[in-house]
Amino acid sequence: MQRQKTCTCNEFQALKIPCMHAIAAATRYKIRIDSLVDQCYSRTAYREAYSKIINPVVEYESIEILFSDSSVSELEINPPASRRPPGRPRKNRILSRGEFQMRVPKRRTVCSRCKGSGHNRATCKVAI
Ligand SMILES: [Zn+2]
Ligand SMILES: [Zn+2]
Repeated sequence: MQRQKTCTCNEFQALKIPCMHAIAAATRYKIRIDSLVDQCYSRTAYREAYSKIINPVVEYESIEILFSDSSVSELEINPPASRRPPGRPRKNRILSRGEFQMRVPKRRTVCSRCKGSGHNRATCKVAI
């Protein structure tokens, strides 16, 4: 890493946020991890970005004016060409680069009848 804020995985360069390898290296050399995050994520940069007035851009030349009398009746507007893809829609979101799935520990089923685990009340076979 050598303070160059780069990594062969390219994640550090792309996101300007240290990747897991950089974090591991920083921890080893006792470098503050938050100091490796780029200045563009700082509050100062954020404030600077929104400090000025943002005006809407209007391109008058590209606006086509429709007249209410004849042209509207001739105008045929069809719904957009869209088709539902086959199959069941996916439940899991496609992760962005540098994002990874956090392992959520599975909750153990506890039976309310015998307080045993691995089954529930309905499937309980323990004799009481
Ligand atoms: Zn890396
Ligand atoms: Zn049970």
